[in-house]
Amino acid sequence: ISFTDLNLSAPLLRAITEAGYTTPTPIQAQAIPYVLRGGDLLAGAQTGTGKTAGFTLPILHILSGSPLANQGKGKPRCLILSPTRELAAQIGESVTTYGKYLPIKSMVVFGGVGINPQINRLSKPIDILVATPGRLLDLVEQKVLDLSGIEILVLDEADRMLDMGFIHDIKKILAKLPKQRQNLLFSATFSDEIKQLADTLLNKPDLVEV
Ligand code: AMP
Repeated sequence: ISFTDLNLSAPLLRAITEAGYTTPTPIQAQAIPYVLRGGDLLAGAQTGTGKTAGFTLPILHILSGSPLANQGKGKPRCLILSPTRELAAQIGESVTTYGKYLPIKSMVVFGGVGINPQINRLSKPIDILVATPGRLLDLVEQKVLDLSGIEILVLDEADRMLDMGFIHDIKKILAKLPKQRQNLLFSATFSDEIKQLADTLLNKPDLVEV
């Protein structure tokens, strides 16, 4: 299977080629078609499997293919939650790299740095927001971030998010999202707590394990 077989758009294929990728990894080959069809996904995948491109590529394809692109200031259409700022920054870089030929705006927010530059950036249109949970909630509470337009939610490294004690924040965030949306959950391990979260979050998910 090749990236062309996955029906990704030409601007994405060009960015993939420039990144030097020739073949989709197993998680990409399995996850991308399902995410493109709009279904929920429960994926068991470690770092290093190519999981980031597994969700960012189809998300970029979906968002750039619909006329709502760049609809709103401070009102993203996709939210990617990450446990750490390092991971959030990496995901943000992937979105920028793969989306370089698309009119998609993305932004990364995390704590431990000044909030004002993030508030300023949120006064401009944004499609994809990559965030750690605490800072995300701060921005929502300051009313500079509106989560009512979220069409796609990704929980990346969900097991680490629970290990780090983010379950309460995650529940608060989930309560602010529209009910009708696509959900993708990535986790390296599957404890009872993760299974419970997956049960409440996901609607008839496709299961992918690599
Ligand atoms: P990840 O598991 O998402 O952290 O990705 C691990 C590494 O694999 C990253 O450095 C990616 O740039 C790289 N990568 C992702 N997909 C592919 C691919 N299809 N071919 C070659 N390298 C890839």
